[in-house]
Amino acid sequence: MACAWGGSWPRQPPYVLTQCPLPRRLTPPSMSSPVSKKILIVEDEHDILQLVKLYVEKEGFRTVSAMTGTEALRQVKQEKPDLVVLDLMLPEIDGIEVCKRLRSAPETAMLPIIMLTAKAEESDTVVGLELGADDYVTKPFSPKTLVARIKALFRRLQRKPEDSPAHYRYGDLVMDLARHEVTVKNKEVPLTAKEFGLLEHLLRNPGRVLTRDILLNTVWGYDYYGTTRTVDVHIRRLKQKLPSLNEAIMSVKSLGYKLKELDRSA
Ligand code: CA
Repeated sequence: MACAWGGSWPRQPPYVLTQCPLPRRLTPPSMSSPVSKKILIVEDEHDILQLVKLYVEKEGFRTVSAMTGTEALRQVKQEKPDLVVLDLMLPEIDGIEVCKRLRSAPETAMLPIIMLTAKAEESDTVVGLELGADDYVTKPFSPKTLVARIKALFRRLQRKPEDSPAHYRYGDLVMDLARHEVTVKNKEVPLTAKEFGLLEHLLRNPGRVLTRDILLNTVWGYDYYGTTRTVDVHIRRLKQKLPSLNEAIMSVKSLGYKLKELDRSA
């Protein structure tokens, strides 16, 4: 099967879950949060789907499921999940296409997605990044690992407070929002308002794919008439002014951009 990134996937991968015994005793979901997060599990292999469901629910999450890409898109609309676990190989519409469609619709562009990909190969890493998934788990995987990744992703997203901080730091770069100033190693780098806005949005969402539409709407506003190419031009200028971000601002094929997440950003 020819894919968007030029590689190919085996048709019938022998995905077998290794070492994933059923949980010994199913404890009732924790009642710590009044309304638990809802997770959509998209997986066409029935056994894997049930197993993942079991583990995820054991952690107190609510689940909905889909076994095809078409169903997945419908469930996203109907159920409005807080996160999607998305298998790559799916009947009808595959995981890549589902991911792309979710990313390109404004209401789901920021929906957290964890992709289930084939066994760890370099191409999968590239795929995971290019797809716009927030994280990916390679098959065969243990359900415990997947649950840990789900929790980690929720933590990462919750870390961002509603009220924006006064500063963003990224390596040597500091953005002072009150002063509307960006410095690298304490030296000011003059940016235009749009460049500043773009950078702010990237710094606020490290590790997340931001589509051109999202960036255009956020920085330029919904009534802006320009094309998404405007975003590319400004990103290029931003990189020229801030060479230290040249590699950190990654282009995500046919979607948009993402700022590489620092291991320990302040
Ligand atoms: Ca599959």
